[in-house]
Amino acid sequence: MRAKSHESRGAGPEAILSETQLAEIFRQAEVGYPEEICGMVVGWRNAPETFRVRQVRNIANQEPQRDTGGVPRDARTAYMMDPLEQLRVLREADQQGWEVVAFYHSHPDHDAYFSAMDRDRALTSGREPIWPGATYLVISVVARRGRAANYYSWDAVRRDFLERSVPPPRRSRVISAGIGPTRKALCCRRLLRYRKSPVRPAA
Ligand SMILES: [Zn+2]
Repeated sequence: MRAKSHESRGAGPEAILSETQLAEIFRQAEVGYPEEICGMVVGWRNAPETFRVRQVRNIANQEPQRDTGGVPRDARTAYMMDPLEQLRVLREADQQGWEVVAFYHSHPDHDAYFSAMDRDRALTSGREPIWPGATYLVISVVARRGRAANYYSWDAVRRDFLERSVPPPRRSRVISAGIGPTRKALCCRRLLRYRKSPVRPAA
């Protein structure tokens, strides 16, 4: 079902985030677990050294979202960027002459895929991309550990988002490094509690 990487070529300019930028986004996704985290990468598209990762608060718990089937979702399976924070990032980008290079969000305890809701949000009602040049990055976080990520870029010829897998960044483990047995036990208890309650597929 997924596009193979070689099929993704020709999808237009890709957002190539550096190892450090990816590691930062993975870190955010792990810290925010078991809720979805979201944000934007802004900069000059052809100058990765200008890219800035800007996390934006997920307000899906305050503003429950509905998926494409009309089912309500909270921050564990959906995200809604805080509009004021998003505006602040867009203003910053504007002032610097930057563009939106990428939007990112995490899927706690689910694979990295572009859900129907993700697709819906990325397109206008006329099924045109709202941000044609921007790439969407989805990160899978399982048990507070970033596992995989994919880029989704609009392909004007196929009129669809093409998937390209992103190698997870090499970095120190967030959970195992530097935390004592007590915190580890707390993490495990939280994990078990969350696992006991039913979770809808991530969006
Ligand atoms: Zn999603």
